[in-house]
Amino acid sequence: MASATGWTLEAAVVGAAAVASEVAAKKVAKVYALESPKLEPYTPDAFAAGLKQFIAARQPKLVLMPHTYQVRDFIPKLATTMGRAVISDCIGFSHDGGKLVFTRQMFQGKFAADVSFTGDAPWFATFQNGAFRGDQAEAGASAAPVETVKVDIRDGVVRNQPQEVFKEAKQAVDLTQAEIIVAVGRGIKEQKNIEIAKQLADALGGDLAASRPICDSGWLPMDRQIGSSGQTVAPKLYLALGISGAIQHIVGMKGSRAIIAVNKDAEAPIFEIADYAVVGNLFDVVPPLIEEIKKAKAS
Ligand code: FAD
Repeated sequence: MASATGWTLEAAVVGAAAVASEVAAKKVAKVYALESPKLEPYTPDAFAAGLKQFIAARQPKLVLMPHTYQVRDFIPKLATTMGRAVISDCIGFSHDGGKLVFTRQMFQGKFAADVSFTGDAPWFATFQNGAFRGDQAEAGASAAPVETVKVDIRDGVVRNQPQEVFKEAKQAVDLTQAEIIVAVGRGIKEQKNIEIAKQLADALGGDLAASRPICDSGWLPMDRQIGSSGQTVAPKLYLALGISGAIQHIVGMKGSRAIIAVNKDAEAPIFEIADYAVVGNLFDVVPPLIEEIKKAKAS
């Protein structure tokens, strides 16, 4: 975005000084490490107050953040106290004729809306996990300077009392290392039908995974869930069976080298990112596929 607009790219790290030097190795002009004893442990009050002070002093045009649970927790407060709105949950952007336009999905990925800011800067936008590949962030020619900024968060500002951090998906199974993943979605219809996906995974020597509704129903354990509240994977092959392709699922698997999707709906959003699209009933497609794989392996 910085190269498209010609704007300077600087980064700010809040309350995690160790991360600042890691960010400084990337192609950024400067890194600010915001510090205050009140930033640890995380509270929305302290983060909103600290960032407001910093942003008011620095006057950036655009403030970008990841669309994490933590950012979703404090950014509405930060933006409204500064009299601004947030374009949240973006998955892409364009810069045409000097205008910065952000793309966000609506109605669970069925529509994509292009939106822009009308008011004054600073503008706030959050990007969905997976919208950009972190591992493709360019390294800088040399380390960027890191400036420590002490923010003054007065007593009484922090009213939140942090509790133990909640983790949505326990990761006893590490799918991030899997080379082949066969993932099932609601198209599998019933728990007992998961067996055919398991047979396919076994034939390919891969692992079984699922979309969230499958894990929410208890048909597979939570640690098999792929997506924004599950695991992010990048196997050589990702086979999606009866998965529609909601953004929350796609962010967890779009880094896969090859994606094969089987879906009976030719308009399913998963086909937009699939390398091979099989429009059909998975119960007709999968059994002969298993047989063919077995035959190919035997010969
Ligand atoms: P559906 O959207 O119901 O799709 C089923 C698909 O199967 C359809 O496309 C249909 O055409 C196809 N189908 C039906 N029958 C057949 C058949 N016989 N053969 C072939 N195809 C068939 N989702 C995740 O996956 N991971 C997450 O981490 C996640 N986190 C979320 C976090 C939040 C805060 C929220 C709000 C949602 C999250 N979701 C997540 C849910 C997500 O929005 C979708 O609801 C979910 O991914 C849909 O799962 P699905 O594709 O299995 O089901």
